[in-house]
Amino acid sequence: MARVMIVGAGGVGNVVAHKCAARAEFTDILLASRSVDKCEQIAASIGSPKVTTAALDADTVANTVKLIEEFKPDLLINVALPYQDLVLMDACLQTGIHYLDTANYEPIDVAKFEYSWQWAYRDRFKNAGLTAILGCGFDPGVTGVFSAYALKHYFDEIHYLDIIDCNDGNHGKSFATNFNPEINIREITQPGRYFENGEWVEIPALSIHRPIPYPEIGDRESYLLYHEELESLVKNIPTLKRARFWMTFSETYITHLKVLENIGMTRIDPIEYQGKKIVPLQFLKALLPEPASLATNYTGQTSIGCHITGIKDGVEKKYYVYNNCQHAAAYQEVGSQGISYTTGVPAVVGALMIVNDKWKKPGVFNVEECDPDPFMELLGPMGLPWHEVFDGVSPFEN
Ligand code: NDP
Repeated sequence: MARVMIVGAGGVGNVVAHKCAARAEFTDILLASRSVDKCEQIAASIGSPKVTTAALDADTVANTVKLIEEFKPDLLINVALPYQDLVLMDACLQTGIHYLDTANYEPIDVAKFEYSWQWAYRDRFKNAGLTAILGCGFDPGVTGVFSAYALKHYFDEIHYLDIIDCNDGNHGKSFATNFNPEINIREITQPGRYFENGEWVEIPALSIHRPIPYPEIGDRESYLLYHEELESLVKNIPTLKRARFWMTFSETYITHLKVLENIGMTRIDPIEYQGKKIVPLQFLKALLPEPASLATNYTGQTSIGCHITGIKDGVEKKYYVYNNCQHAAAYQEVGSQGISYTTGVPAVVGALMIVNDKWKKPGVFNVEECDPDPFMELLGPMGLPWHEVFDGVSPFEN
């Protein structure tokens, strides 16, 4: 039995609130976010007396501490933006509660994706006897659990990891992002990076791409990106010789992005406009559809998985593990699109791992450092069934 505070009432916050409300383990749920009307809308759509709402500006520790002290949760689930991660971790430490998020901290003025800032909290969480679970969405999140599960059950050593992420959905808009536009565009416009033979190899953004087959979908053009789980996975699975991340984008999406980039609309440094400082990407975000608003009439599905090659008893083995998620099914169940759903469900499974003592240990952890079995057991029943392929075939060379 636990009290949970959810911070962030966007696409993912909606899924997290619905899924927490459906679990008996969570007796009281506070949904807090910058715009309280969004929290109220979500609470009304759930219609459970367990869910209450509050306005919270999570950019300052004092605000968050005050609200935590009033509500007295056991655990905070952070599904606001990566900018708030450190403030929320500080507030959890000050009030003695556990922490979980789905994206690594980013400073607002530099698009830098690394865990260093959050790993620096390890001793403080450890000494306080508190658990912080980092990156517990789908990717990062389930992809790390998939890798840990493969290592635990099927491999002595993992050598090659290719994480592949396809959104084969259609929301009918010419250009929109499936999660927060600012965070999404910062990520995609960065140079790509992958790990090979002990080194990081940097490439110009979106410069390596190839068709990759996805179950039930077929071949889709997929682009090599840097993605944050690569950093923790190469540390925690030190036998990895190569680790890469691929994501599909349509030609229309890439064309829009290139134009926006070429004209300076994706810049994150402030510019002077009519006597005011504005950040072009933040202005662009204000024009683009909110991720939550894409859910109605979204058709098609997502498919995300891990292609893994390694050895077992001296013999090379190939293994693929994945989930496909239908946008319309997610909408029917909780009123969200598939990207929000595939992020929100693992966050709640991770929260249950803390509440049920399966992952409750003092310190700051990436998901692959925790036992994958109880998480995998709950993931399907919670809405994201996963499938394994042992046919020894992989679209990737060693
Ligand atoms: P949205 O933009 O839809 O929602 C973000 C929410 O956070 C909004 O309700 C916003 O409030 C709120 N918020 C922003 N700043 C503050 C603040 N200072 N204080 C309080 N609340 C704030 O994004 P998504 O729901 O799509 O994404 C949420 C998170 O999930 C992001 O961090 C994203 O990176 C992560 N994510 C992770 C994935 C994974 O697989 N690991 C995949 C997809 C997303 P307001 O409405 O007022 O702007």
